[in-house]
Amino acid sequence: MLRVALILFVECTFFIHIRAQNHTRDNEDHGQFSKEELLGQIKPSSHAAFSLVPQKYTSKYGIYLRTEAFQAFKSLHEAAVDEGLEIKILSGTRSFNYQQSIWERKWGKPQYMGWNAFDKALDILTYSSMPGTSRHHWGTDIDLNALENSYFESGEGREVYEFLNRCASSYGFHQVYTSKEIPNSPRSGYEEEKWHWSYTPISIHMLNAYNALISTEDIQGFQGSSQADSVKIIQDYVNGIRILDLE
Ligand SMILES: [Zn+2]
Repeated sequence: MLRVALILFVECTFFIHIRAQNHTRDNEDHGQFSKEELLGQIKPSSHAAFSLVPQKYTSKYGIYLRTEAFQAFKSLHEAAVDEGLEIKILSGTRSFNYQQSIWERKWGKPQYMGWNAFDKALDILTYSSMPGTSRHHWGTDIDLNALENSYFESGEGREVYEFLNRCASSYGFHQVYTSKEIPNSPRSGYEEEKWHWSYTPISIHMLNAYNALISTEDIQGFQGSSQADSVKIIQDYVNGIRILDLE
């Protein structure tokens, strides 16, 4: 048992070194990301910075990630396998158009008959992003194993979640939509998502670029987009993630 613990400790520590290397890019200019990349208006299959995720790592087809994030995920996956655990990507990069289809399907649901647009937008925003504001546009964020917190609270899912909390940060991945109840860790916007993990060596720069380049005037072209300002979509949702203490 002690030997296993020692091996795990060494593995996590080893990859902290890799993350430290990635941090050299922290000093690069945030202007490296275009508005199209930040808003999901690119095609990952024809973008040089993206890779197709092989079936070994996902139960879906056509999942793309930024190559650096995918390489880091491969190492994290390997560490999980070493512990007898399986982590599979359910969702990676999603385009503006894809997010629009999710959003507008919810927007048109009969359950919202008689709701005003503001309340409707807030209700959909419990878990779903407005098109143009999803971290899944960036190619740095992944959903793992199951889209339900309850899966991660018992049995195999709990083991996976404990593994991710113990090791994922060593590979650059962090849960960004944490519980809103954690003291000294202010959060707003989306509810907790134990399945959503972000490759922060890149995504932290994309958030900075987003804040520098994007305003609510850029959030348009779908039903309900006029609510972007009133729900404070950039302030409370795009920036509503946990504070990432990366240093
Ligand atoms: Zn997600």
